[in-house]
Formats: sequence, C-alpha cells, structure tokens
Amino acid sequence: MVKFGLQFKATLENITNVRPEGEDFRWFLKLKCGNCGEVSDKWQYITLMDSMPLKGGRGSASMVQKCKLCSRENSIDILKDTITPYNAEDSDKFKTIVQFECRGLEPVDFQPQAGFAAKGAESGTPFPEINLQEGDWNEYDEKISESVGIYEVTHQFIKC
Ligand SMILES: [Zn+2]
Repeated sequence: MVKFGLQFKATLENITNVRPEGEDFRWFLKLKCGNCGEVSDKWQYITLMDSMPLKGGRGSASMVQKCKLCSRENSIDILKDTITPYNAEDSDKFKTIVQFECRGLEPVDFQPQAGFAAKGAESGTPFPEINLQEGDWNEYDEKISESVGIYEVTHQFIKC
C-alpha cells in the first residue's frame, strides 16, 4: 500500500477555500499499473460515494479494477480525512489537497473538472459551482466590486 498526494497549485485572486464540494465530487485520474506499466488511455473518476470490496475481506476501496493488460487486481481509495482546501495563502504554491491509498497502481495524471467551490477571501461571498477544466476561472464579486479568480491551475503527484 502506497499513499500518493495530489498537489494543487493555482494563482488565486480575491478568493480562498477552494475545495472539492460534496461526496459526489469526481476525481478524474489516469492510473498506471505498477505491475506491467499500462496507463489507462481514458480518464477514470472516483468519488467518496463509491465503495468496492477488496479480495479476501481486506476492507474496501473507492475503485477496484483488473488491469486490462496483465489482469492484476489493483485498487485506489480516497482518504477522506486528507481532503484539504486550497486557501489564499497557498496561492502560487503546491499544496496537497487529497491523498489516495493505492494497491498495485499509481495515479499519473489528474484533470480538474466541475464540482469545486470557493469563497471570496474578504467578502465571504460563496461561489458554489466552479469548473476548472479550462485551467482558469473567474467571476465578478459584487460585494467588493472586483473580479475573483483561479488561474493557471496545475498539479503534481508526490509519494507520501
Ligand atoms: Zn498491468
């Protein structure tokens, strides 16, 4: 079992508490089989709502799947308690926002899509529906008469 941290980095403008919203938030990943090196060509997603049993009564994981190439059973689990918001003071720095516990595979790519939420850093204005698929997002915050935004979204994975 290995834990991988997903580190998120973006430039924040007048915004804080950027977070995946809800149990149904979809983490879109590309996964690499640790046995044969096969990388899935399609994006796969896992959510906190998904739970599949592991072989031999070893508990459960968010996703259990057989590698298409070598047939080994691999699994990945979202560690719920590690989900951490990305805040104004984290701007322009990599920060681990979630950890995945993996057996037999590792995440090699991540694509943020819809389902993020955030709030105005000074105004507290809630922004409940943020899509980061384009790598940039912005809106106008009427409370402060200024724009708010999340720009140049990037990521990396680290072994924890
Ligand atoms: Zn394989």
